[in-house]
Amino acid sequence: AAKEKGEGSFHFFTSALQRAASERLVLEHQLRAALDQGELRLHFQPQVRVEDAVPVGIEALLRWGDGESSVSPGRFVPVLESSGLITRVTQPVLREAGAALAASRARGFADLRVSVNLSARQLRQPELIGQIESTLAEFDLRPEQLEIEITESTLLDNEQCQSNAVQLAALGVRLAIDDFGTGYSSLTYLKRFDVDALKVDRSFVKDMLDDQDDALIVHAVVGLASGLGIESVAEGVELAAQRAQLRKQGCDLIQGYLIARPMPLPELLDWLDA
Ligand code: C2E
Ligand code: MG
Ligand code: MG
Ligand code: MG
Repeated sequence: AAKEKGEGSFHFFTSALQRAASERLVLEHQLRAALDQGELRLHFQPQVRVEDAVPVGIEALLRWGDGESSVSPGRFVPVLESSGLITRVTQPVLREAGAALAASRARGFADLRVSVNLSARQLRQPELIGQIESTLAEFDLRPEQLEIEITESTLLDNEQCQSNAVQLAALGVRLAIDDFGTGYSSLTYLKRFDVDALKVDRSFVKDMLDDQDDALIVHAVVGLASGLGIESVAEGVELAAQRAQLRKQGCDLIQGYLIARPMPLPELLDWLDA
């Protein structure tokens, strides 16, 4: 009986694995079609100065489908990455982000910048630097109006990543470390690369009011950024009390539902006007 039971759970296990694998394949197939049709679009979330709420930048975040039929980036971005399809979004994302800044400028917001997320596979694309240069030229942007968000592990990924990061910095494009504190703990890359901003991960901000350790980590990251003479950005700020605490700690920029959710470009432009 025990043996039968074992075999039963083995079959259950493999079929669960098969189901997960085939769901992934279906998703990959649908994503391929979505890319062909240009169905992946960007939403934009404002980043504002903590002391006076002045908008400084917008983060470009990929979206697929709307309303009920939308799929969260937490689900589809990993599939784009594991399938290698992610390299196909780089150019359209850069152009849509550039177009958003040009539209903001036309509405009188000339100094905004846009932050674009790049994964390791994207950062090591040999054509990346050329794509960035042509985006800056096409939309007449200053290099410092573009910020590239990468994680700690991406920066340490391989030599092509590192050489592209150095070239980006040489162009004057900004470099921000996303989800700071959740990846590698080696800080030597902060000396080796021209990093412009540290983004305090949402997980630390979320519990900073109740959890002493999280409060301490936020404080340390903000202090590290300030000591290095670079910017600190807190992500996932949902409460006025979190904003007050971040302000007291000297955090530079905040981003989160308290300020605004990520939104399509027309809504962002209205939000900026208001
Ligand atoms: P991320 O770059 O760390 O982006 C921040 C995430 O936090 C976004 O999730 C944003 O919608 C969410 N968020 C912002 N404020 C709040 C808040 O106050 N509360 C809560 N609960 N969440 C908040 P989203 O849009 O689902 O994106 C998830 C991740 O997908 C991003 O994390 C990024 O790693 C990845 N991603 C998104 N767009 C791209 C892209 O164009 N390229 C690449 N490679 N990855 C992307
Ligand atoms: Mg990001
Ligand atoms: Mg991230
Ligand atoms: Mg993040």
